[in-house]
Amino acid sequence: MEEIEESFPDIREAVRRLCAGFPGAYWQALDRERAYPTAFVEALTEAGFLAVLIPEAYGGSGLGLQAATAVLEEIHRSGCNGGACHAQMYTMGTLLKHGSDAQKQMYLPRIASGDLRLQAFGVTEPGAGTDTTRIRTFARREGDRYIVNGQKIWISRAEHSDLMVLLCRTTAREACAKPSDGMSVLLVDMRKAVGNGLTIRPIRTMLNHATTELFFDDLEVPAENLIGEEGKGFRYILSGMNAERILIASECIGDGHFFIDRASAYARERNVFGRPIGENQGVQFPIARAYVQLAAAAGMVDRAARMFDAGQAGGTEANMAKMLASEASWYAADMCVQTHGGFGFAEEYDIERKFRETRLYQVAPISTNLILSHVATHVLDLPKSF
Ligand SMILES: Cc1cc2nc3c(=O)[nH]c(=O)nc-3n(C[C@H](O)[C@H](O)[C@H](O)COP(=O)(O)OP(=O)(O)OC[C@H]3O[C@@H](n4cnc5c(N)ncnc54)[C@H](O)[C@@H]3O)c2cc1C
Repeated sequence: MEEIEESFPDIREAVRRLCAGFPGAYWQALDRERAYPTAFVEALTEAGFLAVLIPEAYGGSGLGLQAATAVLEEIHRSGCNGGACHAQMYTMGTLLKHGSDAQKQMYLPRIASGDLRLQAFGVTEPGAGTDTTRIRTFARREGDRYIVNGQKIWISRAEHSDLMVLLCRTTAREACAKPSDGMSVLLVDMRKAVGNGLTIRPIRTMLNHATTELFFDDLEVPAENLIGEEGKGFRYILSGMNAERILIASECIGDGHFFIDRASAYARERNVFGRPIGENQGVQFPIARAYVQLAAAAGMVDRAARMFDAGQAGGTEANMAKMLASEASWYAADMCVQTHGGFGFAEEYDIERKFRETRLYQVAPISTNLILSHVATHVLDLPKSF
């Protein structure tokens, strides 16, 4: 834990200072209205924190994933939520790794400055679920453009993004040698698309996450917006998912610290039966257990981030980090509510909000069972079940 706290101390301190300007009352008001934290996202953008993964040549700070995890961890430890903008950090990875020079020159500097928001990522579909090869949104090539038809679900921040990385089929699954062939990545300009073949419908959820459903009805996308080669999109998307999982894991670590900090403080101060509740081991031990579990998960997040920055494969570590961190933060959340008794349910304490927010991460961006299945079949050589 010490090592984690010592990494990037200047960045962490700067993020903490920024977050202090966005206290619980700010998030509570947004939560009630399910409104977008525009001022918070603007402040992070101006400070350059959302451009840490973009190379200096394109106007970012090129610091790498370990620095990005420090940013998100501190945001979450402060009681804020990076979910409104974390994708601005990593969605551009698909463009950076697989885009043409012209595409990178055109978009990356403006993404780094925040003039362009690329924080929508369209993969999930209602009929496919986790089985991504069964997506049906189809882009038909017609001369110098694609015509897109289909539907996506759970596409977060689509209303607050200028561009979207969209995974769609360009060849039907049945016509491909492998189910993962025949998918392509298009960069969709949302400013032109909405009302011209793209309809966005917000979905109200148990947390304030600006997530939506998308309907494509003959949406035209210029062929020059294809990223990489046609038919290879699944591979491109997969390569970006490790970064996403590690960063989400770091948010869980931050959440876990938030819950442990709050629970420890409350257990020291709250007097019942003439003594602080924290004197009872029945209250202490769950807090200590949460700390132990979080420390172990943080070690795995750090390892996965180091591997990523060193250019090592690390898919299994990214998955394990996400699973351990999301479970550790959920245990800490539950413990924190219990430690606070009735006050754990009061909006003004922020615990019930963070409790709802951190629950998401055992489901998205990938659910726990799918991680276990990966470890079982890819690491332990157990027979595949699907
Ligand atoms: C708030 C929110 C925001 C999101 N944002 C985005 C976004 O921006 N972009 C995007 O593309 N997607 C997004 N998602 C989608 C998210 O990635 C998926 O919800 C997640 O991957 C789980 O997929 P599913 O909901 O289709 O579940 P399903 O695939 O339907 O699975 C349902 C349950 O069954 C389990 N399951 C399924 N198959 C198996 C199996 N073979 N063995 C064992 N268990 C199995 C799963 O683990 C899960 O618990 C978001 C989701 C939410 C809720």
